[in-house]
Amino acid sequence: MELYELGLKEAANKIKNREITSVELTKALLDRIEERNGEINAYVTVDRDHALKMAEESDKRIREGNPRLIEGVPLGIKDLFCTKDVRTTACSHILDNFVPPYESTVTENLWKAGGVLLGKTNMDEFAMGSSNETSYFGPVKNPWDLTRTPGGSSGGSAAAVADYQCPVATGSDTGGSIRQPASFSGIVGIKPTYGRCSRFGMVAFASSLDQAGVFARNVEDAALMLRCMSGYDPKDSTSADRPIENYDEKLDQLEIKGMKIGLPKEYFIEGLDPTVKQIIDDAIKNFTDKGAEVVEISLPHTKYAVPAYYIVAPAEAAANLARYDGMRYGLRVEGDNLMDTYMKTRTEGFGTEVKRRIMIGNYTLSSGYYDAYYTKAQRVRALITKDFEEAFKEVDFIFTPTTPTPAFKIGGKVDDPVQMYLNDIFTVATNLAGLPGISVPAGKMDYEGANLPVGLQIIGPAFSEQNLLNAAYAHEKMTNFELLKA
Ligand code: GLN
Repeated sequence: MELYELGLKEAANKIKNREITSVELTKALLDRIEERNGEINAYVTVDRDHALKMAEESDKRIREGNPRLIEGVPLGIKDLFCTKDVRTTACSHILDNFVPPYESTVTENLWKAGGVLLGKTNMDEFAMGSSNETSYFGPVKNPWDLTRTPGGSSGGSAAAVADYQCPVATGSDTGGSIRQPASFSGIVGIKPTYGRCSRFGMVAFASSLDQAGVFARNVEDAALMLRCMSGYDPKDSTSADRPIENYDEKLDQLEIKGMKIGLPKEYFIEGLDPTVKQIIDDAIKNFTDKGAEVVEISLPHTKYAVPAYYIVAPAEAAANLARYDGMRYGLRVEGDNLMDTYMKTRTEGFGTEVKRRIMIGNYTLSSGYYDAYYTKAQRVRALITKDFEEAFKEVDFIFTPTTPTPAFKIGGKVDDPVQMYLNDIFTVATNLAGLPGISVPAGKMDYEGANLPVGLQIIGPAFSEQNLLNAAYAHEKMTNFELLKA
């Protein structure tokens, strides 16, 4: 086994036991990136010296007998987490020269746990997209089939983990951007409850929906990584003041016998690939064979989730992105006067999808349209939240496919925004309701001539991360899913 194939926990243990050093592992991963990144395009910034310096510091702590939880393990970081002194672009031209003077709380927490910054991963511009094709730095290729997208917006993180270019990576999920790419890339992706991870220092897209989370090749690593990055932060007013949980230490505590799995009838619909459905049914059968009970439930407002999301998210995005005006930081294109400078900067700095969102957002927030669009979408959001509350009175978990189909082709949907948005059909409602969701590999299937992974999504009530991880762990143990070979 090559060093770069080690998972988070395995690597942390080997470093702690002094079987390997952090510098050795970091070098192995940097070499792997150098070999593979030209093809996959998962990373947009890799600072070798910075990574090796952090690794040396970890090795020193090990020698001194002071290892922390994930001491010395290199991590992939989605390029919307501000990293002090390391370029952070959100994969937009408007920020492509931005070097943050401060650190995001999530990454700060990871460094405090001993993590090493390996590199910044590619993503859709400002996290707007489902295929990583809106990135200023070009699309990411899915390691399972290079003609396909690894999903988005955290496509670089997903591909990097699936392709053994890092053991684990951070992502962010506003409408599915962790779960969908995890599903497309055959790995685990968890979006915790809104508020579980601090948003401080995360480039904002839609602030009431954005939440940080994790990609890993197994559930245990996802649990450990989430434990390291989550926690209350007074710098984010929506951060939840709850203790950090040792998720990775309680993974086998699920009682399958008697657990109630809800299957929302609105999710098993036309448009869902029959083989995807079969794979999800098989996963559920593993649970029912061990005594779980299946309950058909209804989330009646599901059909409004995509339209409501595509009002709320662009509205918040339009407000958040107003700050990129060429005055304080980021790109500035000089014009004849102030207004001209604003226009030239924003015209050149933003890509097509981001401009589309800014226009939709400003339109729906404008006087005369606000009530018809924004207020109505917020009402729908409340109804969607209520649907889940009702459902969780009856069941412990909701099981669904993560996406209606496996990974689609690069170029397949990018010219048709509505088709692209519909890909988010199973993921956006969770964000609107602020709930945690995890995607875990469930199987593989032949799809348009390729052999591709399929993810099972498990949704739980607010702050049920431990239960979700436990259910995903149980599923993983009962499923023969082979990861992509290195
Ligand atoms: N695909 C969705 C969008 O384009 C979700 C993106 C995300 O979760 N960041 O908005």
